[in-house]
Amino acid sequence: MTRTSTPSVAVRTVPRRLRTEDESRPATSSTNVVLIGPPGAGKGTQATRLAAALGVPAISTGDMLRRAVQSGSTLGLAVKAVMDRGELIHDAMMTEIVAARLGEPDTRSGFVLDGFPRTVDQAVALDGLLERRGDLIAVELAVTENAIIRRLSQRRVCERCGCNADPGSSQAASSEVAGGRPAFATVCGCGGVLQQRSDDTEAVIRERLRTYERSTKPLVDFYRRRRALRAIDGTQAPDLVTAQISKVIDAVFDHAAS
Ligand code: AMP
Repeated sequence: MTRTSTPSVAVRTVPRRLRTEDESRPATSSTNVVLIGPPGAGKGTQATRLAAALGVPAISTGDMLRRAVQSGSTLGLAVKAVMDRGELIHDAMMTEIVAARLGEPDTRSGFVLDGFPRTVDQAVALDGLLERRGDLIAVELAVTENAIIRRLSQRRVCERCGCNADPGSSQAASSEVAGGRPAFATVCGCGGVLQQRSDDTEAVIRERLRTYERSTKPLVDFYRRRRALRAIDGTQAPDLVTAQISKVIDAVFDHAAS
């Protein structure tokens, strides 16, 4: 994942309101976006691009937890085994982590959440956290299971900058040459080493997909019922996905100052 791409979402400096079917609704002050999708749907990539374009933070709960694991903190020690099994961390713990993050001033004009909420209980908790902070739109990235397994088993993460990189992509800077043929790159554009995530093995990926179907998929209906859901085909090229999400965000939030 790189910030060098230029998605079409205009950088916004003014507060906006959510345009709904009922235009008499009160104005909202921030752009709150939640990305929903199975592991490997491209949420991390899209969250980073959209957040940069919107001028709001991308908040990845998976990244926050991985940093905690790396640092060896109490939180990290508590969550590592659960993450390695592809299961979910307890709702109360996740809500506490996200509540603290949303309490930081950089989220005042909005955020792009990647990986939270992951259960209906978390979504309800998020509603509580967002009271008086404006409306929220959920974007579902739909991807087939085969595409997910292929993507995730090839995915590498930079140990230095944390970006996701397909080792065959241009984000990955150097390639080893094996028998005269270029092999997968092992070094990120920033110079960091590309590593496989410990939960990107096939067995854990399958468990994460089961967890997604069981616990997270119900969120699609949760947000659809309140007409806050937009679905995008996540199997398309990343630039196209970015462009389509941008369009959705532009259609939902307008630029008028409230
Ligand atoms: P991700 O990087 O979003 O795929 O998250 C990696 C792992 O972190 C997941 O498989 C879960 O174990 C854990 N995790 C991340 N976000 C949440 C969440 N909102 N609720 C529960 N567990 C989470």
